[in-house]
Amino acid sequence: MALLKIVHYPEPVLLTVGKPVGADEFNDELRKLVENMFETMYSAGGVGLAAPQVGISKRLFVMDVPNDKDESNKIALINPEIVAQEGEQYGDEGCLSFPGIYTKVRREVRTIVRYQDVFGNPQELDCTDLSARCVLHETDHCDGIVFLDRMTSLKRELAKRKIKRLQKTEKWD
Ligand SMILES: [Zn+2]
Repeated sequence: MALLKIVHYPEPVLLTVGKPVGADEFNDELRKLVENMFETMYSAGGVGLAAPQVGISKRLFVMDVPNDKDESNKIALINPEIVAQEGEQYGDEGCLSFPGIYTKVRREVRTIVRYQDVFGNPQELDCTDLSARCVLHETDHCDGIVFLDRMTSLKRELAKRKIKRLQKTEKWD
């Protein structure tokens, strides 16, 4: 396994709509990429990581939002598609492509996502709270949308100022 390099905003790949994973791409190469993405996510201390964040413009992400008992919920979602969402939640959100930025973002509180597993089998996940936040955040990455785009204009302005300061540090290259 190998750690992948996480790209930081405003790397163009983060702002590009990812290509769907084709029917002929559900192979060992894809499964290796997924394992490396899990490794990279755990190493960076995140709960979700999308392919564009490691410089690959494709529609897939990995996530592991532990439940109350710290139980792992390791899951890879290929070609995710939000089919339903409802309610709202306000909570702190971060992103491995924006190191040091945490801010409140409004999200739906429940979502149903349809996706394919690493073998190409169709799956569906009905999730709430932090899992829903993660699914929505990571599916956005597949669409070239970053959480900056989901902030209120005031929070976005403050975040942009902080990003400018952080970009002068080694943490953000
Ligand atoms: Zn992110």
